[in-house]
Amino acid sequence: MSRSKERVKLYKKVRNTSLWGSVIMYILLIIMFLAMMLFLAGFVLEYIFETKFAEGYRETQQLAQLYDAGNGDRSITDYINKLDNDFIVKDKSGRVVFQKGKNTCSDNGGEVELSNGKEKYMVYADTETDYIYPDGDGGLDVRFKELVDYISSHENNTRLPIWVETELSGEKTFIAKAYLTVSTRDTVLVIELLAGVFGIVVVIGVITIIKIIRSVINYRRVVKLFYHDPVTMGHNWNWYIRYGDDRIHDLRTRRYSFAVVNLVFRNYRNYCLCHSIADGEKMLARINGVLTGELEKNELCAHATMSNFALLLRCDSEESLKQRLEQLIAKLQGMDSEHNFAFQIGADVVKAQKSENGHYLKRRDMSIENAYNNACSARATLADTEESGVRIFDSGLLEEQRWYDTVHEHQQTALKNEEFVVYYQPKYDPRTNVLKGAEALVRWDSPEFGFVTPGRIIPIFEKNGFITEIDHYMIAHAARDQKMWLDKGYKCVPVSVNVSRAHFVENDLAQQIRDIVDKEQCPHELIEIELTESAFFDDKKAMIKTIKKLREYGFAVSMDDFGAGYSSLNSLKDMPLDVLKLDAGFFRGENEGERGEIVVSEAIKLAKNLKMRTVAEGVEEKAQVDFLAQQGCDMIQGYYFAKPMPREEYVHKMERTDDGGAGE
Ligand code: C2E
Ligand code: MG
Ligand code: MG
Repeated sequence: MSRSKERVKLYKKVRNTSLWGSVIMYILLIIMFLAMMLFLAGFVLEYIFETKFAEGYRETQQLAQLYDAGNGDRSITDYINKLDNDFIVKDKSGRVVFQKGKNTCSDNGGEVELSNGKEKYMVYADTETDYIYPDGDGGLDVRFKELVDYISSHENNTRLPIWVETELSGEKTFIAKAYLTVSTRDTVLVIELLAGVFGIVVVIGVITIIKIIRSVINYRRVVKLFYHDPVTMGHNWNWYIRYGDDRIHDLRTRRYSFAVVNLVFRNYRNYCLCHSIADGEKMLARINGVLTGELEKNELCAHATMSNFALLLRCDSEESLKQRLEQLIAKLQGMDSEHNFAFQIGADVVKAQKSENGHYLKRRDMSIENAYNNACSARATLADTEESGVRIFDSGLLEEQRWYDTVHEHQQTALKNEEFVVYYQPKYDPRTNVLKGAEALVRWDSPEFGFVTPGRIIPIFEKNGFITEIDHYMIAHAARDQKMWLDKGYKCVPVSVNVSRAHFVENDLAQQIRDIVDKEQCPHELIEIELTESAFFDDKKAMIKTIKKLREYGFAVSMDDFGAGYSSLNSLKDMPLDVLKLDAGFFRGENEGERGEIVVSEAIKLAKNLKMRTVAEGVEEKAQVDFLAQQGCDMIQGYYFAKPMPREEYVHKMERTDDGGAGE
């Protein structure tokens, strides 16, 4: 399960326990209570009913017995006629053989059993007041509303008729109108009972509603906490992936292409150092405010971690996205005119997906976390600089990242197996065409990935720190080769080795180099150390100290890539260097022509005045060689003379001391 899904599950768990658990509990409670009260009320009502019914029934029983006993006796018949009760007598075939009063006995009859279970009677509803009738299940039923209306319109005792059947002798049946007498007291009692039930239900209902409202408030609090970012007071990462995933997968928004964006405030740490963490956090809150203010419908912004913000923006095209992100940076920079803040942005575009018949598809395989990871990778390519910038993730970058991981994974084994090989590029004197030196350049001869040039590995080693091991390896191998060639009687020329700026954090660098060279028993003057120009900006004092030490030990030190991007005249003034290597850029493209020549010739003069030798790199044309010779350039390292070559080939470029003949 992905982490985002886990988080959503956790969130749902928190939400459900806080809300639905109590809501369901309260609803069940209220239903239970209601059922209990209704059952109780029903029970009481039934009891009242049965008592009343039993009274009425006994009256009709007595009447039936009287009628039966009288058996046509005149005095008894007269007595019965004077009584209030109506009744009918039916013979075996159901024909009415005697009737007293009005026959309002309906056909709706059924057996009724009293709750004592002993007595069973056949009863019929009255056609005039049809409020009580046998329910067919051994009980009596009531038309409740009509009955209440009826009872309330009769002020005192109300008599509700029902016809009760009694067997007589001679296979006759006696059906008499019995009355359930409902007194005002009974009515009041029933009303009180119902009001009581209603009151209790209302009270419980109110309590339940209060509890539910409290649960909703609690739920909102939990949701807020779960998605709240305490630094910016805005939204956090959990919120971003929850709603970001929704936007990507939702039916309503799947027709949009989105850009998943990682934005970093580069100066956060420094800002916290110079001010305080609280001030730094205030700045993050302001950034969050600006970003949130720039959002449109269906777009999101959240504070992810430290100085990282995550955004989800609509994206119509990569160009418009880039433009918008650059404007966003400008807006953020405009927030504080006193500081020159840098913001770096990486973005990954999640495109809308269409089926063949033009329907927008669910972006099943897309997850906001993956896209954000891509955005971070794109942004990380800018991270070395302290400048603002925007980079959009593409498949090339994915390749780059894979390559980075592959190199990282294999570097140690490759070093152990000596897969890194030294190539030598000779340096010649342009006037005499005599070999004056060489540069040792690394190549990776990998059994798995083939022959890999330094451009594809050095930047990776510089990033992951492995460059220090490579440089030591190269110094050791160059020194070993030099010693071997010396022993074999070659006239060795100095070989320069590149030393990355990453080394300058170690203050015993000069000693380390000396020890490596000494281990190979190679004379120090045969090894030269090349430092790149950019390294001169890191820690000037440490650099000067190391250069002085190296020279004390007898190593020549050169400044590589002079003129490539950085202003370096100032460093030339302070650094006690032996060699200045003019960058290949001087001899390429727009630097060609008269103005380029002026710069080169002045650089050579400057170096000479500072007692430095000069090497021109990247020289490919005869005309360039002639020009450089004329200007007094000491050496040329370029394809015009030779490309970097394996040691077996380079050895032929050297002269031998024994016979004095050319090496080739
Ligand atoms: P660099 O030290 O400035 O080396 C010179 C680069 O320019 C070499 O590229 C070389 O092949 C190339 N070059 C020389 N002449 C010409 C020419 O006429 N035309 C063209 N187009 N190119 C020319 P390479 O060998 O690919 O090395 C590239 C960079 O990799 C080096 O630049 C250096 O910065 C780095 N590097 C190589 N080996 C090592 C190493 O062992 N340690 C460190 N730290 N960096 C290394
Ligand atoms: Mg170099
Ligand atoms: Mg160079």
